[in-house]
Amino acid sequence: MKVKDLQRLFETIAPLSLQESYDNSGLLVGNSNDEISKAIITIDVTEAVVDEAIAENADCIIAHHPLIFKGIKKLTGSNEIERCLIKAIKHSIAIYCAHTNMDNVFVGINKMIADKIGLISRQILAPSKDTLVKLVSFVPTSHIQQVRTALCNAGAGQIGNYSDCTFSTEGKGTFTANEGSSPFVGEQAKLHTEVEERLETVVPKYALAQVLQALQSAHPYEEVAYDVFALENVHPQIGAGLIGELENPEDVSEFLQRIKTTFKADGVRYTESKNNKIKRVAICGGAGSFLISAALRAKADIFITGDVKYHDFFIPENKMVIADIGHYESEQYTKELFYEIVTKKFPKFALHLSKVNTNPIKYL
Ligand SMILES: [Zn+2]
Repeated sequence: MKVKDLQRLFETIAPLSLQESYDNSGLLVGNSNDEISKAIITIDVTEAVVDEAIAENADCIIAHHPLIFKGIKKLTGSNEIERCLIKAIKHSIAIYCAHTNMDNVFVGINKMIADKIGLISRQILAPSKDTLVKLVSFVPTSHIQQVRTALCNAGAGQIGNYSDCTFSTEGKGTFTANEGSSPFVGEQAKLHTEVEERLETVVPKYALAQVLQALQSAHPYEEVAYDVFALENVHPQIGAGLIGELENPEDVSEFLQRIKTTFKADGVRYTESKNNKIKRVAICGGAGSFLISAALRAKADIFITGDVKYHDFFIPENKMVIADIGHYESEQYTKELFYEIVTKKFPKFALHLSKVNTNPIKYL
């Protein structure tokens, strides 16, 4: 297996274009063409994790948090990041990270948290804007099925749980093939009219390049006429946080206790609420304060996240519980998620869940 197989696998599920602007997900150390035989899975890359990789004879580290966020101007080992990089390079260990791109997909980090809590009827809490486009192309009737299939196989036409969603209407296309052209139908220098279908479908922005490539290959014309329109629609499976429901409502105090145990939290910081039952649960792994208002709008009874600041705890005004279970605690099961992702596709590839607890925060 090569590093690029791992990249392709992760980036099919969580395309890099879905990461936040401050992020640095993807392959950070190593070459896409390098062979790999064993990977260590971790939340953070620390020196202890790189040492563990060396001891385990692993040649790859798959991490949630990127080791590098900012530009590095020297590599002398003066801090932990530099020491990790030097060690990894010396031992030919690739480092791959899937961070906010994995936060922003339905089957990513928050799915794992929802699984652990047992949430049903899940939806993205704050779907991202500007993630969909409408592609319209004009295809001779003889090739409509071929083009439709190619577009859908490349990632177009997915609406919720339905695939191959397209629409077409018949009409007449006209063109004059100029000097130097070799038209699929018609003759040079003569206005031609052809029965064509206007084929339209929705495309996630991250898949547009490959869908256009599929269009060019499947369409019989030398010059393919197409339009790409921006859409106001949001992609229901791309965005931040998740909201779902408990099968049966639970008492606030019992639910908080359950969360504390499930996420092995040494402490849970929470606010009180007027409701004493929990049914609707909003979650965001990591630092999720930016979603408090979205959770309120979605009528969540509780919002579970990490890294909440003092003043942010005031926002719900007792309409919703905020439970800060800790950044690391909320994301710890990401290791299991990555394990699942890799073994599902490459069942024989050796994987090791890091035994290092990289959480730097301790409680008295
Ligand atoms: Zn995080």
